[in-house]
Amino acid sequence: MGRTQWGSGKGKVGIPGLTGGLELVGIVGMIRWTPRVMLIFLGWVAMVMFMGSRKNKKIDGFSCKECGRVHAFGSMDMAFHRPSAYFDVPEEERASRCKESDDLCRIDGERHFIRGMALISIVDLDDTFAWGMWAEVSKEDFNGYLRAYSVDGSLLPRFPGRLSVEDFGYRGLEGHEVAIQLGKSSERPEFYLTPSDHAFYRDQIQGITYHRSREILHAMDGRHPDPNKD
Ligand SMILES: [Zn+2]
Ligand SMILES: [Zn+2]
Repeated sequence: MGRTQWGSGKGKVGIPGLTGGLELVGIVGMIRWTPRVMLIFLGWVAMVMFMGSRKNKKIDGFSCKECGRVHAFGSMDMAFHRPSAYFDVPEEERASRCKESDDLCRIDGERHFIRGMALISIVDLDDTFAWGMWAEVSKEDFNGYLRAYSVDGSLLPRFPGRLSVEDFGYRGLEGHEVAIQLGKSSERPEFYLTPSDHAFYRDQIQGITYHRSREILHAMDGRHPDPNKD
């Protein structure tokens, strides 16, 4: 298992067959499929596909005002598979000491970690980059997250955590305090760094350029998905 992973960081792993898509299936089942309704439905599908293709055209490349090159569009999220504390446990002991999934991790039955994402606005792109990260939380908040895992937690109060991430494009985030906001049932929690003089805090408040986001990824040696492309 690699330590980091590209893509798929924005949504929870979920429970196959149970989460997602249920509402749509319910609505389709309720419609009386007369020819007229069918026609409207097909028109709607055609429109959605047309809008989708336009959107895809927009993201073929990005003319960078900062360096004058055209950056190919790459990943807008990157995630750590496990908290740094997990990698601190000797590999041969992990099976007995760690209980973990891609969303939750408990070590020695007493340290609790949840995976969330710290979003950074890409100011010249009207998009966000998501860093998938882990934070250590109290047992109470861990259990609270478990209880709210499959429901909309976006109105629940934020709770504190401390980042458990290895150094990457940003260094020294280990232990940085975050406020954690649970999301809707399918969304991973969001991490907001508490005010500090760390560059990541500044970037989360101010956003960064797309060019800068590529620089950060390039700095992560060997972890770039396609170094020749952008
Ligand atoms: Zn550039
Ligand atoms: Zn690149």
